[in-house]
Amino acid sequence: MGKRVCDNCKGKRYVIFQKGKFARAIICQRCYSVCDKCGGDGIIFKKGENNYTYANKCDCTMLENRSVLFNEAMIPAQFAQVTLEDFQISHHTQEEARTNSQKFVDSYPIQERGLLFMGPVGVGKTHLAVGIIKKLTLEKGVSCKFVDFFHLLADIKEGYSGGKSDKEIIEPFVKAPVLVVDELGKGRNNEWESNILDQIISNRYNNSNELVTIITTNYTTRRDSTLSVTRTRATKNLLASTKDKNYEKEVLQETLQERVGERIFSRLVEICRIIEIEGKDFRSLKYSED
Ligand SMILES: [Zn+2]
Ligand SMILES: [Zn+2]
Repeated sequence: MGKRVCDNCKGKRYVIFQKGKFARAIICQRCYSVCDKCGGDGIIFKKGENNYTYANKCDCTMLENRSVLFNEAMIPAQFAQVTLEDFQISHHTQEEARTNSQKFVDSYPIQERGLLFMGPVGVGKTHLAVGIIKKLTLEKGVSCKFVDFFHLLADIKEGYSGGKSDKEIIEPFVKAPVLVVDELGKGRNNEWESNILDQIISNRYNNSNELVTIITTNYTTRRDSTLSVTRTRATKNLLASTKDKNYEKEVLQETLQERVGERIFSRLVEICRIIEIEGKDFRSLKYSED
């Protein structure tokens, strides 16, 4: 066997692909079976001092466990191929965010807090969060979970009809050593929704010496940079004649504090370090390139 890099997995020893809603990893079948350390048996025999022979697990057996961790992380299929290395940078805050993401991976599990990526749509917040847990699962063997907050709410509602309580459904996310909550603040933000969020965040806050949380949100701490939502509201004269005049537009610019409430916000900033990402508007960037 030569030392040529496997062209099936590019030397990574995993192949990552999309399956249904999620990204999946399997051990490369082409090079795994011929692990040059153990010949594929998974065991390495070493001679000790007294001429005893010791059997040790080969490093390649970890690959199996790590691909299981990756698959259990529930990374959405559309992010199957993203990595921290291929993160596109068009603004210095993106560069800083990527550096901090890599540092986070390198120092895990010895870091003080998780990360809270905030900024507008399209600057790569989810990309970084996925890049982090991809490395943590595959390179460090850490158990991680990804959850889109909006999808979680839908799953909980669906669970109710199957007789499941919200506790049962959120439990894996409450307990995951590393949790990514994507799109925090999305939803209708009613009392039920903020109660679900509170259950997750409070639990993680109370166990923050063991659990690390990574958040992405379009809401920021400043009114001028937070998500701006235009709502169309019917006015009193709805029953009267013409359409257009009977609606008025309302622009909502809630900060993250306002969106999630002081209690959750104060816990978030204690368990996460805020990383605000700005970016050139991706659409105008595209147009100027044409
Ligand atoms: Zn391979
Ligand atoms: Zn091996």
